Amino acid sequence: MYIPYGKQTIDESDIQAVLEVLRSDYLTTGPKVVEFERKVADYVGAKYAVAVCNGTAALHVACLAAGIGAGDEVITTPITFAASANCVLYCGATPVFADIDPVTYNIDPAEIEKHITPRTKAIISVHYTGQPCDMDAITAIAKKHHLLVIEDGAHALGAVYNGRKIGSISDMTCFSFHPVKPVTTGEGGMIVTDREDLYQLLQLFRSHGITRDAELLTEDQGPWYYQQQYLGYNYRITDISCALGTSQMDKLDHFIERRQEIARRYDAAFAGVSGIRIPMQQEGCRSGWHLYMIQTMHRDRREVFEALRAAGIGVNVHYIPVYQHPYYQQHGYAEVHCQHAEAFYSRAISLPIFPGLTEEQQDYVIDKVLEWCANG
Ligand SMILES: *Cc1c(COP(=O)(O)O)cnc(C)c1O
Repeated sequence: MYIPYGKQTIDESDIQAVLEVLRSDYLTTGPKVVEFERKVADYVGAKYAVAVCNGTAALHVACLAAGIGAGDEVITTPITFAASANCVLYCGATPVFADIDPVTYNIDPAEIEKHITPRTKAIISVHYTGQPCDMDAITAIAKKHHLLVIEDGAHALGAVYNGRKIGSISDMTCFSFHPVKPVTTGEGGMIVTDREDLYQLLQLFRSHGITRDAELLTEDQGPWYYQQQYLGYNYRITDISCALGTSQMDKLDHFIERRQEIARRYDAAFAGVSGIRIPMQQEGCRSGWHLYMIQTMHRDRREVFEALRAAGIGVNVHYIPVYQHPYYQQHGYAEVHCQHAEAFYSRAISLPIFPGLTEEQQDYVIDKVLEWCANG
Protein backbone atom coordinates (compact mmCIF):
# COMPACT_ATOMS: atom_id res chain seq x y z
CA MET A 1 0.00 0.00 0.00
CA TYR A 2 1.23 3.48 -0.87
CA ILE A 3 -0.79 6.53 0.12
CA PRO A 4 0.18 9.65 -1.85
CA TYR A 5 -0.04 13.14 -0.32
CA GLY A 6 -2.33 14.33 -3.10
CA LYS A 7 -4.21 12.81 -6.01
CA GLN A 8 -6.83 13.77 -8.58
CA THR A 9 -10.41 12.50 -8.46
CA ILE A 10 -11.72 11.64 -11.94
CA ASP A 11 -15.19 10.22 -12.52
CA GLU A 12 -17.15 8.99 -15.54
CA SER A 13 -18.57 12.47 -16.34
CA ASP A 14 -15.01 13.84 -16.59
CA ILE A 15 -14.09 11.06 -19.01
CA GLN A 16 -17.21 11.66 -21.12
CA ALA A 17 -16.47 15.40 -21.29
CA VAL A 18 -13.00 14.72 -22.70
CA LEU A 19 -14.27 12.13 -25.20
CA GLU A 20 -16.80 14.64 -26.50
CA VAL A 21 -14.02 17.11 -27.37
CA LEU A 22 -12.01 14.42 -29.15
CA ARG A 23 -15.00 13.87 -31.43
CA SER A 24 -15.52 17.60 -32.06
CA ASP A 25 -13.95 20.10 -34.48
CA TYR A 26 -11.71 21.91 -32.01
CA LEU A 27 -8.88 20.40 -30.01
CA THR A 28 -7.47 23.75 -28.94
CA THR A 29 -8.50 27.42 -28.68
CA GLY A 30 -12.14 26.46 -29.25
CA PRO A 31 -15.39 26.79 -27.31
CA LYS A 32 -14.29 24.66 -24.34
CA VAL A 33 -11.59 27.17 -23.38
CA VAL A 34 -14.11 30.01 -23.23
CA GLU A 35 -16.61 27.85 -21.34
CA PHE A 36 -14.02 26.91 -18.72
CA GLU A 37 -12.89 30.52 -18.33
CA ARG A 38 -16.49 31.66 -17.82
CA LYS A 39 -17.17 28.90 -15.31
CA VAL A 40 -14.17 29.71 -13.12
CA ALA A 41 -14.71 33.49 -13.38
CA ASP A 42 -18.37 33.11 -12.36
CA TYR A 43 -17.49 30.74 -9.54
CA VAL A 44 -14.90 33.05 -7.95
CA GLY A 45 -16.80 36.25 -8.77
CA ALA A 46 -14.39 37.81 -11.26
CA LYS A 47 -15.25 39.61 -14.49
CA TYR A 48 -12.58 38.09 -16.72
CA ALA A 49 -10.51 34.91 -16.91
CA VAL A 50 -7.67 33.78 -19.18
CA ALA A 51 -6.82 30.07 -19.24
CA VAL A 52 -3.22 29.07 -19.95
CA CYS A 53 -1.17 25.87 -20.16
CA ASN A 54 -0.08 25.73 -16.48
CA GLY A 55 -0.01 27.70 -13.25
CA THR A 56 3.56 28.87 -13.79
CA ALA A 57 2.59 30.37 -17.16
CA ALA A 58 -0.34 32.07 -15.40
CA LEU A 59 2.07 33.72 -12.95
CA HIS A 60 4.42 34.69 -15.78
CA VAL A 61 1.78 36.38 -17.93
CA ALA A 62 0.32 38.06 -14.83
CA CYS A 63 3.74 39.59 -14.13
CA LEU A 64 4.07 40.65 -17.79
CA ALA A 65 0.60 42.22 -17.78
CA ALA A 66 1.52 44.03 -14.56
CA GLY A 67 4.43 45.58 -16.43
CA ILE A 68 7.04 44.01 -14.14
CA GLY A 69 10.49 44.31 -15.70
CA ALA A 70 14.18 45.00 -15.16
CA GLY A 71 14.88 47.12 -12.08
CA ASP A 72 11.60 46.22 -10.36
CA GLU A 73 11.28 44.39 -7.08
CA VAL A 74 8.40 42.07 -6.21
CA ILE A 75 7.77 40.92 -2.65
CA THR A 76 6.69 37.33 -2.02
CA THR A 77 6.91 34.56 0.57
CA PRO A 78 9.77 32.05 0.86
CA ILE A 79 7.35 29.24 1.87
CA THR A 80 5.96 28.51 -1.58
CA PHE A 81 6.67 26.57 -4.74
CA ALA A 82 9.59 28.14 -6.62
CA ALA A 83 7.31 29.28 -9.47
CA SER A 84 5.86 32.08 -7.27
CA ALA A 85 9.30 33.76 -7.38
CA ASN A 86 10.66 32.41 -10.67
CA CYS A 87 7.95 34.29 -12.56
CA VAL A 88 9.54 37.52 -11.34
CA LEU A 89 12.98 36.40 -12.54
CA TYR A 90 11.50 35.53 -15.96
CA CYS A 91 10.65 39.23 -16.31
CA GLY A 92 14.17 40.35 -15.41
CA ALA A 93 12.97 41.69 -12.06
CA THR A 94 14.03 40.80 -8.50
CA PRO A 95 12.01 38.69 -6.06
CA VAL A 96 12.30 39.91 -2.46
CA PHE A 97 11.39 37.48 0.30
CA ALA A 98 9.35 38.65 3.29
CA ASP A 99 9.11 36.28 6.26
CA ILE A 100 5.99 34.31 7.18
CA ASP A 101 3.70 34.68 10.16
CA PRO A 102 4.66 31.70 12.40
CA VAL A 103 1.00 31.06 13.25
CA THR A 104 -0.67 31.14 9.80
CA TYR A 105 2.48 30.26 7.76
CA ASN A 106 1.39 32.92 5.26
CA ILE A 107 3.39 36.02 4.36
CA ASP A 108 3.40 38.50 7.26
CA PRO A 109 2.09 41.92 6.17
CA ALA A 110 4.41 43.68 8.65
CA GLU A 111 7.36 41.94 6.97
CA ILE A 112 6.12 43.05 3.55
CA GLU A 113 6.16 46.64 4.74
CA LYS A 114 9.76 46.31 5.97
CA HIS A 115 10.93 45.29 2.49
CA ILE A 116 9.29 48.04 0.47
CA THR A 117 11.70 50.27 -1.47
CA PRO A 118 11.21 52.82 -4.25
CA ARG A 119 11.72 49.91 -6.68
CA THR A 120 8.91 47.77 -5.30
CA LYS A 121 6.30 47.21 -7.98
CA ALA A 122 4.08 44.40 -6.76
CA ILE A 123 3.26 41.86 -4.07
CA ILE A 124 2.71 38.20 -4.91
CA SER A 125 0.81 36.73 -1.98
CA VAL A 126 0.45 32.96 -1.80
CA HIS A 127 -2.51 31.40 -0.01
CA TYR A 128 -0.32 28.66 1.34
CA THR A 129 -2.10 25.31 1.95
CA GLY A 130 -5.33 27.02 0.81
CA GLN A 131 -5.59 29.26 3.87
CA PRO A 132 -6.22 32.85 2.74
CA CYS A 133 -3.56 35.48 3.43
CA ASP A 134 -4.42 38.58 5.43
CA MET A 135 -5.74 40.32 2.32
CA ASP A 136 -7.12 43.39 4.13
CA ALA A 137 -3.66 44.24 5.44
CA ILE A 138 -1.98 43.40 2.12
CA THR A 139 -4.49 45.49 0.16
CA ALA A 140 -3.95 48.44 2.51
CA ILE A 141 -0.16 48.24 2.09
CA ALA A 142 -0.52 48.01 -1.68
CA LYS A 143 -2.79 51.04 -1.77
CA LYS A 144 -0.50 53.09 0.42
CA HIS A 145 2.56 52.34 -1.74
CA HIS A 146 0.81 52.13 -5.15
CA LEU A 147 1.66 48.47 -5.68
CA LEU A 148 -0.11 45.80 -7.70
CA VAL A 149 -1.27 42.67 -5.94
CA ILE A 150 -1.05 39.31 -7.69
CA GLU A 151 -2.42 36.41 -5.68
CA ASP A 152 -0.93 32.97 -6.22
CA GLY A 153 -4.10 30.99 -5.61
CA ALA A 154 -2.69 27.63 -6.75
CA HIS A 155 -3.79 26.09 -3.41
CA ALA A 156 -6.87 28.21 -2.94
CA LEU A 157 -9.47 27.82 -5.71
CA GLY A 158 -12.71 27.71 -3.70
CA ALA A 159 -11.18 29.22 -0.55
CA VAL A 160 -13.04 32.13 1.05
CA TYR A 161 -11.65 35.20 2.79
CA ASN A 162 -14.16 37.12 4.96
CA GLY A 163 -17.05 36.16 2.74
CA ARG A 164 -15.20 36.72 -0.55
CA LYS A 165 -13.92 33.95 -2.77
CA ILE A 166 -10.23 33.98 -3.57
CA GLY A 167 -10.10 35.41 -7.09
CA SER A 168 -12.44 38.33 -6.37
CA ILE A 169 -10.13 40.43 -4.23
CA SER A 170 -7.06 41.89 -5.94
CA ASP A 171 -5.79 42.94 -9.37
CA MET A 172 -5.07 39.41 -10.56
CA THR A 173 -5.29 35.91 -9.08
CA CYS A 174 -3.54 32.88 -10.60
CA PHE A 175 -4.68 29.28 -10.34
CA SER A 176 -3.07 25.94 -11.20
CA PHE A 177 -4.84 22.81 -12.42
CA HIS A 178 -2.04 20.30 -11.86
CA PRO A 179 -3.44 16.91 -10.72
CA VAL A 180 -2.80 17.53 -7.01
CA LYS A 181 -4.52 20.95 -7.04
CA PRO A 182 -8.18 21.68 -6.09
CA VAL A 183 -9.42 20.75 -9.60
CA THR A 184 -7.36 19.44 -12.49
CA THR A 185 -6.97 19.73 -16.25
CA GLY A 186 -3.82 17.56 -16.29
CA GLU A 187 -1.67 20.63 -16.81
CA GLY A 188 -3.34 24.00 -16.77
CA GLY A 189 -3.63 27.42 -15.21
CA MET A 190 -5.75 30.54 -15.20
CA ILE A 191 -5.63 34.21 -14.32
CA VAL A 192 -8.78 36.00 -13.16
CA THR A 193 -9.19 39.77 -12.99
CA ASP A 194 -11.81 42.52 -12.94
CA ARG A 195 -9.67 44.89 -14.99
CA GLU A 196 -10.32 45.00 -18.73
CA ASP A 197 -6.88 46.49 -19.49
CA LEU A 198 -5.14 43.59 -17.77
CA TYR A 199 -7.49 41.09 -19.41
CA GLN A 200 -6.46 42.30 -22.87
CA LEU A 201 -2.77 42.12 -22.04
CA LEU A 202 -3.11 38.64 -20.53
CA GLN A 203 -4.72 37.40 -23.74
CA LEU A 204 -1.95 38.93 -25.83
CA PHE A 205 0.89 37.48 -23.75
CA ARG A 206 -0.79 34.04 -23.81
CA SER A 207 -0.42 33.85 -27.57
CA HIS A 208 2.79 35.41 -28.93
CA GLY A 209 1.72 39.01 -28.30
CA ILE A 210 -0.31 38.68 -31.50
CA THR A 211 -3.76 40.20 -32.02
CA ARG A 212 -6.37 40.12 -34.78
CA ASP A 213 -8.75 42.31 -32.81
CA ALA A 214 -9.73 45.22 -35.12
CA GLU A 215 -9.94 47.53 -32.13
CA LEU A 216 -6.33 46.85 -31.17
CA LEU A 217 -4.73 46.90 -34.66
CA THR A 218 -2.91 50.14 -35.51
CA GLU A 219 -3.56 49.71 -39.26
CA ASP A 220 -5.48 47.42 -41.58
CA GLN A 221 -3.63 45.86 -44.51
CA GLY A 222 -6.48 43.47 -45.36
CA PRO A 223 -8.64 40.67 -44.02
CA TRP A 224 -5.57 38.45 -43.39
CA TYR A 225 -3.89 41.07 -41.27
CA TYR A 226 -2.68 40.57 -37.69
CA GLN A 227 0.01 42.23 -35.62
CA GLN A 228 2.56 41.10 -33.08
CA GLN A 229 2.51 43.97 -30.61
CA TYR A 230 4.40 42.42 -27.66
CA LEU A 231 6.87 39.61 -27.13
CA GLY A 232 4.41 37.00 -25.96
CA TYR A 233 4.56 33.22 -25.64
CA ASN A 234 2.62 30.16 -26.68
CA TYR A 235 1.00 29.49 -23.32
CA ARG A 236 -2.33 28.35 -24.77
CA ILE A 237 -4.31 25.48 -23.24
CA THR A 238 -6.21 22.81 -25.17
CA ASP A 239 -9.97 22.31 -25.40
CA ILE A 240 -9.34 18.75 -24.21
CA SER A 241 -7.93 20.08 -20.94
CA CYS A 242 -10.63 22.71 -20.54
CA ALA A 243 -13.46 20.19 -21.00
CA LEU A 244 -11.97 18.24 -18.12
CA GLY A 245 -11.63 21.43 -16.08
CA THR A 246 -15.26 22.46 -16.68
CA SER A 247 -16.46 19.04 -15.61
CA GLN A 248 -14.20 19.13 -12.52
CA MET A 249 -15.57 22.54 -11.47
CA ASP A 250 -18.97 20.91 -10.81
CA LYS A 251 -17.31 18.94 -8.01
CA LEU A 252 -15.07 21.62 -6.51
CA ASP A 253 -17.25 22.41 -3.49
CA HIS A 254 -17.68 18.72 -2.77
CA PHE A 255 -13.90 18.21 -3.07
CA ILE A 256 -13.29 21.01 -0.57
CA GLU A 257 -15.87 19.59 1.85
CA ARG A 258 -14.07 16.25 1.73
CA ARG A 259 -10.73 17.98 2.35
CA GLN A 260 -12.28 19.83 5.30
CA GLU A 261 -13.55 16.57 6.79
CA ILE A 262 -10.11 15.03 6.49
CA ALA A 263 -8.50 18.08 8.10
CA ARG A 264 -10.99 17.96 10.99
CA ARG A 265 -10.21 14.27 11.58
CA TYR A 266 -6.49 15.00 11.68
CA ASP A 267 -7.13 17.94 14.01
CA ALA A 268 -9.14 15.77 16.39
CA ALA A 269 -6.58 12.97 16.36
CA PHE A 270 -3.61 15.24 17.05
CA ALA A 271 -5.25 17.78 19.37
CA GLY A 272 -3.38 17.95 22.65
CA VAL A 273 -0.46 15.84 21.44
CA SER A 274 2.52 17.93 22.48
CA GLY A 275 4.88 16.51 19.87
CA ILE A 276 2.69 17.64 16.97
CA ARG A 277 1.70 21.17 16.02
CA ILE A 278 -1.41 21.26 13.85
CA PRO A 279 -2.33 24.06 11.45
CA MET A 280 -4.56 26.86 12.75
CA GLN A 281 -7.80 27.86 11.06
CA GLN A 282 -8.56 31.51 10.58
CA GLU A 283 -11.93 32.79 11.67
CA GLY A 284 -14.17 34.05 8.91
CA CYS A 285 -12.26 32.09 6.28
CA ARG A 286 -12.69 28.81 4.46
CA SER A 287 -9.39 27.13 3.67
CA GLY A 288 -9.13 25.07 0.50
CA TRP A 289 -7.13 22.53 2.54
CA HIS A 290 -4.78 21.82 -0.35
CA LEU A 291 -2.19 20.71 2.21
CA TYR A 292 -2.31 19.52 5.80
CA MET A 293 0.96 20.49 7.45
CA ILE A 294 2.15 19.25 10.82
CA GLN A 295 5.29 20.33 12.63
CA THR A 296 7.29 17.78 14.59
CA MET A 297 7.96 19.61 17.84
CA HIS A 298 10.04 17.00 19.72
CA ARG A 299 11.20 14.31 17.33
CA ASP A 300 13.66 14.90 14.53
CA ARG A 301 11.75 15.73 11.36
CA ARG A 302 13.97 13.61 9.13
CA GLU A 303 13.57 10.57 11.37
CA VAL A 304 9.77 10.93 11.37
CA PHE A 305 9.68 11.59 7.63
CA GLU A 306 11.76 8.51 6.80
CA ALA A 307 9.70 6.31 9.10
CA LEU A 308 6.44 7.48 7.49
CA ARG A 309 7.80 6.95 3.99
CA ALA A 310 9.01 3.49 5.01
CA ALA A 311 5.44 2.79 6.19
CA GLY A 312 4.15 3.56 2.67
CA ILE A 313 2.89 7.05 3.41
CA GLY A 314 3.72 9.61 0.71
CA VAL A 315 4.54 12.44 3.09
CA ASN A 316 6.26 15.48 1.63
CA VAL A 317 7.77 18.76 2.71
CA HIS A 318 6.13 21.91 1.34
CA TYR A 319 8.35 23.87 1.00
CA ILE A 320 12.08 24.44 1.11
CA PRO A 321 12.45 28.25 1.52
CA VAL A 322 12.82 29.34 -2.11
CA TYR A 323 15.98 31.42 -1.52
CA GLN A 324 17.79 28.33 -0.16
CA HIS A 325 17.77 26.60 -3.55
CA PRO A 326 21.24 26.53 -5.19
CA TYR A 327 20.07 28.70 -8.09
CA TYR A 328 18.99 31.47 -5.71
CA GLN A 329 22.05 31.02 -3.50
CA GLN A 330 24.23 31.54 -6.58
CA HIS A 331 22.24 34.57 -7.74
CA GLY A 332 22.41 37.01 -4.86
CA TYR A 333 20.39 35.35 -2.08
CA ALA A 334 23.23 33.78 -0.04
CA GLU A 335 22.75 36.28 2.80
CA VAL A 336 18.95 36.11 2.92
CA HIS A 337 17.41 34.65 6.06
CA CYS A 338 13.78 34.48 7.09
CA GLN A 339 13.75 33.21 10.63
CA HIS A 340 10.17 31.97 10.87
CA ALA A 341 10.25 30.38 7.41
CA GLU A 342 13.42 28.46 8.29
CA ALA A 343 12.06 27.32 11.65
CA PHE A 344 8.86 26.14 9.99
CA TYR A 345 10.76 24.36 7.23
CA SER A 346 12.91 22.49 9.78
CA ARG A 347 9.84 20.85 11.35
CA ALA A 348 7.26 20.65 8.55
CA ILE A 349 5.73 17.49 7.11
CA SER A 350 2.70 17.39 4.79
CA LEU A 351 0.31 14.52 5.37
CA PRO A 352 -1.95 12.92 2.74
CA ILE A 353 -5.05 14.98 2.02
CA PHE A 354 -7.19 14.60 -1.10
CA PRO A 355 -10.88 13.90 -1.74
CA GLY A 356 -10.38 10.18 -2.41
CA LEU A 357 -8.45 9.43 0.80
CA THR A 358 -10.43 6.75 2.63
CA GLU A 359 -11.09 6.68 6.37
CA GLU A 360 -9.07 3.51 6.69
CA GLN A 361 -6.12 5.10 4.91
CA GLN A 362 -6.37 8.17 7.11
CA ASP A 363 -6.60 6.09 10.28
CA TYR A 364 -3.44 4.28 9.22
CA VAL A 365 -1.67 7.62 8.65
CA ILE A 366 -2.87 8.89 12.04
CA ASP A 367 -1.64 5.75 13.84
CA LYS A 368 1.80 6.01 12.25
CA VAL A 369 2.13 9.74 12.91
CA LEU A 370 1.15 9.26 16.57
CA GLU A 371 3.54 6.35 16.88
CA TRP A 372 6.45 8.47 15.65
CA CYS A 373 5.62 11.91 17.03
CA ALA A 374 3.71 11.46 20.25
CA ASN A 375 6.54 10.40 22.52
CA GLY A 376 9.99 11.77 23.02
C1 LIG B 1 1.51 24.24 -8.25
C2 LIG B 1 1.93 25.61 -7.91
C3 LIG B 1 2.36 26.54 -8.87
C4 LIG B 1 2.65 26.15 -10.30
O1 LIG B 1 1.62 25.57 -10.96
P1 LIG B 1 1.92 24.59 -12.22
O2 LIG B 1 0.56 24.40 -12.80
O3 LIG B 1 2.51 23.34 -11.65
O4 LIG B 1 2.85 25.30 -13.12
C5 LIG B 1 2.62 27.82 -8.46
N1 LIG B 1 2.51 28.21 -7.18
C6 LIG B 1 2.13 27.34 -6.22
C7 LIG B 1 2.01 27.84 -4.81
C8 LIG B 1 1.85 26.02 -6.54
O5 LIG B 1 1.49 25.16 -5.59
